[in-house]
Amino acid sequence: MAEFVLEVRDITSAGKSYDFTVRREWLASVLEGTGVGAHADAPEGHLTVKAQTQGVDVLVYGRVSSTLVTECSRCLEDAVIPVDTEIACLLTARGADLRPVPDELELTPEDLDRDFFTGDRIVLDDAVRENLLLEVPIQPLCRETCEGIAVPESISGPADLRSAESPGVDPRLAPLLSLVGKIPTEE
Ligand SMILES: [Zn+2]
Repeated sequence: MAEFVLEVRDITSAGKSYDFTVRREWLASVLEGTGVGAHADAPEGHLTVKAQTQGVDVLVYGRVSSTLVTECSRCLEDAVIPVDTEIACLLTARGADLRPVPDELELTPEDLDRDFFTGDRIVLDDAVRENLLLEVPIQPLCRETCEGIAVPESISGPADLRSAESPGVDPRLAPLLSLVGKIPTEE
């Protein structure tokens, strides 16, 4: 069942605004199998768009926000990914002539997802899903300073060499080194 549906008959050249909730349940269903999910404790996201006709086309643009969660590429703990990104689609009725993107739009063709709609409804589900997933980094991190899974001392060397108190350690690295002791280990 489609979640984000615009009725074409409601959309004029002056535009119509929409504000949808990006529900966790919806995210969970459309992101199944991607390794990305909805953050259970974060507020639910929003899809805020304006839709307006451009001749036979319909331009939909605005923002989509949500809080996603995936696996940290270093330590495999949860990496929380707050997303607030633009969304822009130029939709053409299926069967109509495909026109070039109008010059007066301040959007380059690359900014626009060109798509089609069929019948009297525009469904934004796929565009929303894609735009959210595009914001997930290729190597997500639980935090910038994540050092990954704790390395045994026999491999990493004695802990005192990694301590901020050691002479010879660049003082600018001290804030990073002070985190070493705070990383939970698997033991
Ligand atoms: Zn991590």
